[in-house]
Amino acid sequence: MASGNSYWNAALASWFWNPEKACFWLVGSGTPGQVITAAMVEQPDPAAVFACAMSLHDACVGRACSDPSVDISESYNGGDEFLRQMMRVGNLFEEWACEHIAFEELEDVWPYLLEDRFGAACLEVMDAGSFGMFDRDDCLRVAYGLRLPIRVDVRCRDCRRRF
Ligand SMILES: [Zn+2]
Repeated sequence: MASGNSYWNAALASWFWNPEKACFWLVGSGTPGQVITAAMVEQPDPAAVFACAMSLHDACVGRACSDPSVDISESYNGGDEFLRQMMRVGNLFEEWACEHIAFEELEDVWPYLLEDRFGAACLEVMDAGSFGMFDRDDCLRVAYGLRLPIRVDVRCRDCRRRF
């Protein structure tokens, strides 16, 4: 995992200011300088939440199988709390994504993309036993790792705090 500074420097290098919309834009997979136009207000999709939770669950269990230092049950005080945290992360990420992902720029079907790649991307930013601490800043880190098209909107409290 990159240090905080180099992570944010890399992220900022990909962002540019769009004065018409008073937004920063990050287009991970698009042409540099591309402006995303339509900013639709999306509603959280239960299929996407579930895809996140399942993908992360499978990734954490897989990590625990290959790394003896990872103890899911101990880290989460049991399997019920582990599953509860997987769902919390799924809900949090989908809620954040509806505010910050330019879905119209995606080529993949959103829940399928999450099912295939979300869990592995999460393990790039956090240990398998630590998802009880996953927060909105981590959503940005995961989205950046997935090279998703991200809107950074100054109307959002987190984005204002960050930028
Ligand atoms: Zn924001």
